[in-house]
Amino acid sequence: MPPKEHHRIFRSSWLRAAVLGANDGIVSTASLITGVAASQVSHGIILTSGLAALVAGALSMAAGEYVSVHSQADIEAADLKLEQRSLRRNSVEELDELTGIYVERGLTPELAEQVARQLTLHDALDAHARDELGISLFNRARPVQAALASAASFAAGAVVPLAVAAAAPLADVLAWVTGASVACLGALGALAARAGGAPMGRAALRVTVLGALAMAITAGVGALFGVNV
Ligand SMILES: [Zn+2]
Repeated sequence: MPPKEHHRIFRSSWLRAAVLGANDGIVSTASLITGVAASQVSHGIILTSGLAALVAGALSMAAGEYVSVHSQADIEAADLKLEQRSLRRNSVEELDELTGIYVERGLTPELAEQVARQLTLHDALDAHARDELGISLFNRARPVQAALASAASFAAGAVVPLAVAAAAPLADVLAWVTGASVACLGALGALAARAGGAPMGRAALRVTVLGALAMAITAGVGALFGVNV
């Protein structure tokens, strides 16, 4: 194995999901809080709305993630079942198919057949899943885990503006929540970019500008409706 080779793909997918969830939690909860705070209501109402936003957002993230990952898992399971049946019924054709795949990938026909034979003996379904369907049996989609992870990351993000809103004096809720949220978004953006090996500054700038825009728009809407109601 080469001495210093850090693959980022392994950690970047779950980290990306976690950062996205936390981003969502910060932006949507902070936007809701600034919108409500701009409409001149009591501290209690601001915090209640913020808490409701946290719970509703986390549950909706969990439900959405569960449904999407579950349908992916269903598709994979159905494909594997089909493959399993074909392996039992058409073992000769399946061996030829696997050999063909390795020839296409660059092996000589003799070596390809040897590889296909050995992998079929070792674990035929695994070989076909990987090399024909692109499914890794060790890395299957897990809906419950995905749902819990995205709910947790959303809640972790949402806690930031909520806690700041609780600590801030009523008159300063808008400024404190906006400032803390934008700072957090920038830090998260930089962290995600660093983990993914991308330039940090631009990524941080992108999320902070978009987040600040979302908060400004809802604060504007809140101020407008607060005056009118
Ligand atoms: Zn096959």
